[in-house]
Amino acid sequence: MADDAVAPDFQKARFSCPHCDRVTDQAWFNAYASRVNNPAGVPLRIAGEGLERLAANPQFSPEVREQKVAYWQRVNSGDVFLDRWAPVQSDLLVAGLEISVCTDCLGTAVWLGGHCVYPPGSIQA
Ligand SMILES: [Zn+2]
Repeated sequence: MADDAVAPDFQKARFSCPHCDRVTDQAWFNAYASRVNNPAGVPLRIAGEGLERLAANPQFSPEVREQKVAYWQRVNSGDVFLDRWAPVQSDLLVAGLEISVCTDCLGTAVWLGGHCVYPPGSIQA
């Protein structure tokens, strides 16, 4: 870290972003749980042949297909990010799990028990 770096800290709203390395304001989010609503009963992932089928699905315009494929490639790579999805209403707070988002690069950090666990290799006070 550079001399002016501020180690990511659960008790701070401004620190060195683990994604862009700049000292930036961080927006903190609580996480709420919503039961997986997928016929298979497990989290949805589209990869492999399913992703190839999606990339060739004529129901979507080429632009939409490209967006969907890029989204699933990002998810499949292990990236964690905020995304607009269907609205949900839940009172199931995921206690002990918070997310900080860099207001500059929008990179997310996942915190469990006050410790930064994502992105991998995050430097923490
Ligand atoms: Zn950043």
